Amino acid sequence: MRNITIAGGGLAGLSLGVALCRAGIPVVLHEAGRYPRHRVCGEFINGVGKETLSNLGIEDLFSNTILSEETHWFIGNRRVFSGRLERPAIGVSRRWLDLKLAGMFENLGGTLHTGSRQRELRQEGVVWAAGRRGERKSKWLGLKVHVENLQDLQGLEMHMGRSGYVGLAPVEEGRVNVCGLFRLRQYGGKGPEMLWNCLHGNGLESLSERLRQSGPDPSSFTAVSALRFGGQPGNDGVLALGDAESMIPPFTGNGMSMAFEAAETALGPLCRYSEGKASWETVVQDVRCGLTERFRRRLLMARILHPFLLTHAGRAFLSGVTLSGLLPFKALSRTLR
Ligand SMILES: Cc1cc2nc3c(=O)[nH]c(=O)nc-3n(C[C@H](O)[C@H](O)[C@H](O)COP(=O)(O)OP(=O)(O)OC[C@H]3O[C@@H](n4cnc5c(N)ncnc54)[C@H](O)[C@@H]3O)c2cc1C
Repeated sequence: MRNITIAGGGLAGLSLGVALCRAGIPVVLHEAGRYPRHRVCGEFINGVGKETLSNLGIEDLFSNTILSEETHWFIGNRRVFSGRLERPAIGVSRRWLDLKLAGMFENLGGTLHTGSRQRELRQEGVVWAAGRRGERKSKWLGLKVHVENLQDLQGLEMHMGRSGYVGLAPVEEGRVNVCGLFRLRQYGGKGPEMLWNCLHGNGLESLSERLRQSGPDPSSFTAVSALRFGGQPGNDGVLALGDAESMIPPFTGNGMSMAFEAAETALGPLCRYSEGKASWETVVQDVRCGLTERFRRRLLMARILHPFLLTHAGRAFLSGVTLSGLLPFKALSRTLR
């Protein structure tokens, strides 16, 4: 068996590592950070199928996770849409999920090096799952915090502000994850206060007050910038998976599912490589074609819709179609699976 090395211990890298170990393949995984850690993420998984989790051998992890069947959208204080999701969304914190996946990987015999930042290697047997590539000129800011005492949550909530949006999702231990994407500018404040200021500055004053009172956990606060959506550059000749390959805008809640699906797509070709039945070049090409085929429609749909959430005219249009019942919500949800 040929060895596989994975750079990046997020969802794509860890789930692939678990699946390869289950197939008896020796895997070494390098993760730049350490577990457990909070990550900027909406923490609801939209669109992932049971088959994918089962093919990766990680479905048991999700047997007791929280499921949300409904989503509610708000523009300012006004609810503009309520709908049932095609598949219930899974609510789970990244702190918990990444830690569990890392434990599972090691228990199956995988070798895990944490605190090990890799240089990108265009080398046989190396999978690049190190997340999105930073873009210094990016105009986006992502912020997240857990709150511990929010009583009136209505399923998955999505609130659209002047130049950003924020999602509320229930996760384990009665916590609610609050995560938003905003245009980058100075909002002032530190930790959760920065997020509340950000909501205020985007015209979401009452949400800001509601969350301020709801017991934020400052240790869960995380921020990220330099985000670039869509296909990531510089992947020629590299077997890149997850956000390292392409990043879908967060409003879809589909990025984590795509990370798992990418691992599933790569599994067969990597097993063939490890068994000596395929060359590395063939594997890279097969995986790339598989990912394009699998994700093309949803990436396109997200790219078209994202600007609607972020401009006054776009939100007015969205509000009009949702309130008049013309939003093709089922068709849109189906695109994400
Ligand atoms: C604001 C925001 C909200 C989001 N909300 C949601 C949501 O609600 N639902 C959803 O499904 N998705 C959401 N996403 C997207 C989701 O978080 C990602 O799509 C998902 O984490 C991708 O997984 P990944 O394994 O590809 O990358 P990551 O989870 O980013 O993992 C990459 C890993 O690689 C490590 N690493 C980086 N560089 C190196 C290196 N050089 N060497 C070794 N290791 C390295 C990192 O430390 C990290 O652990 C959101 C994203 C943002 C920004």
